[in-house]
Amino acid sequence: GDFVSFDLGETFRIAANWVKRGTKAAVEIHMDGEETCMARGRPGHIQQVVMNLVQNAVDSMAGQDEAAINVTLAYEGDRAVLTICDTGPGIPEDVAGAIFDPFFTTKQVGDGTGLGLSISHKIAEEHGGDLRLLPSEPGKGACFRLELCKGQAG
Ligand code: ADP
Ligand code: MG
Repeated sequence: GDFVSFDLGETFRIAANWVKRGTKAAVEIHMDGEETCMARGRPGHIQQVVMNLVQNAVDSMAGQDEAAINVTLAYEGDRAVLTICDTGPGIPEDVAGAIFDPFFTTKQVGDGTGLGLSISHKIAEEHGGDLRLLPSEPGKGACFRLELCKGQAG
């Protein structure tokens, strides 16, 4: 098909710069793990997924004095995994079950369509990958895990 190998780290950096340009808030970004993390798929679609995850993270930390996004890139066997965590309020248990539903949003009308995570989840699945919310302590931020097939280097 039209799948290619691309660097998930580069995808994240582009997404983060794009989102940061559109926000007044100061958000610290920390990257950890693989310097380059090759994944396989449609880079533009994955760009959209990662951009939505970064936007959600930034939105969740609006008004906070300190806002940070911690990203880890890792290979797990034949998979390439991006984990993105924020220092926002996290996602309450009663909300967590609905976040991947189309049109589910806790944002004001006009601020969110509620489509980001449902589309992102579909894109991950179309890639033979996965997108999920990781368990986290209440008030300790939210962590999402995007898993794709490992790509080829070079
Ligand atoms: P939207 O961003 O338009 O609301 P999404 O599908 O991207 O739609 O997200 C759905 C909902 O999931 C958000 O409205 C929010 O309640 C919750 N959510 C997603 N990411 C985070 C996050 N990092 N921290 C807290 N809540 C989040
Ligand atoms: Mg969103």
